Amino acid sequence: MKQHFWNGKRVPYVTAWTAEARPQPEIIRRFGWAGEGIGYEDEEPVIDRRDEALWVRSGIAPGRGKPDFRRMNTHRQKRATRFSLCQVCGESVIDAGAEERTLHLLGGAVPIAEGEPTAAPPVHPLCAVEAIENCPPLGRGWAAALVKFSPLWGVAGVVHDPVTLEPLPHSPGRRPGELQHVHLADKDIRWTLASFTVVSLHGVAAVSHDQLHEMAQDDARRALAVEQPGAA
Ligand SMILES: [Zn+2]
Repeated sequence: MKQHFWNGKRVPYVTAWTAEARPQPEIIRRFGWAGEGIGYEDEEPVIDRRDEALWVRSGIAPGRGKPDFRRMNTHRQKRATRFSLCQVCGESVIDAGAEERTLHLLGGAVPIAEGEPTAAPPVHPLCAVEAIENCPPLGRGWAAALVKFSPLWGVAGVVHDPVTLEPLPHSPGRRPGELQHVHLADKDIRWTLASFTVVSLHGVAAVSHDQLHEMAQDDARRALAVEQPGAA
């Protein structure tokens, strides 16, 4: 996996690049097999629709333009979630020695709850430490956990008004256009313009600051042993 750097720091695999932006088509009302909902005039079945939701359009051009650290690329986020790829380096997290559990890192100081839905793909311990150092929101607070399984839960997107087709605020006081989590079984999913896949986290075991750093050191030792057999 090619790694990209910006101002001397590694750009996370899932980060969006400005050259990936695409014009978003007009939202229209559409009658699909599952009922009424939003769609595009020139909708492509596999690309634009998945899990009943309509999906935002985006290119794939990592390393071109500038990285936008506040946003994830929809295609890489979906891929990382589906194949358990690290959100920072893009490599698999499955055979990283984490006893088949995957590490998840979320912003905010609240511990990760059992069954919590999230759009954040998994991460390697060493990559998590790097992300906490480089990413200002994570620097202000984070929670980590080892997770046994993370099934598909729904999407993160913007629900549209069935009458006006305008984006709806996801709760009173929030701005229209902010992403909200919509469950697969929620009837709103057909009125949702989805940006990301959401999974739910199960078999959650919290990871403390010290535990994360120990896991990262083990990661680093393993990497060294691969590069220089006999050194570790
Ligand atoms: Zn990684």
